[in-house]
Amino acid sequence: MTDKRASVSSVSDRSEGFETQSVVDDELKKTLGDDWDEVSNDPAQLEAARFLVTEAKQVSNGIIPERYTQITDYKFCGPVFVYKGYPQPANNCPWCLNRHAGLPIPRADDD
Ligand SMILES: [Zn+2]
Repeated sequence: MTDKRASVSSVSDRSEGFETQSVVDDELKKTLGDDWDEVSNDPAQLEAARFLVTEAKQVSNGIIPERYTQITDYKFCGPVFVYKGYPQPANNCPWCLNRHAGLPIPRADDD
């Protein structure tokens, strides 16, 4: 548990400069709706929620999130980065939404 909290907060630190905290929080309020009050009063929940929103925004901007360290060859998207433990084999990967929306997909074999 301690490890998880540490990693969540360090990823959030590294994401500085990509999205400001207030932009992330605006997004969270929209996503959480009535749950926002409860989450915003719990620092651990708030940090975890910020982490997930930040990561989702990175993916939709074609940026590989910090914890996406594993390369897997998916049926539709090809070799892409996913987080360790992402279900496989699978046809769909975290980047499929980008493929459907015409957004960038950073390929593992790009550079
Ligand atoms: Zn995919």
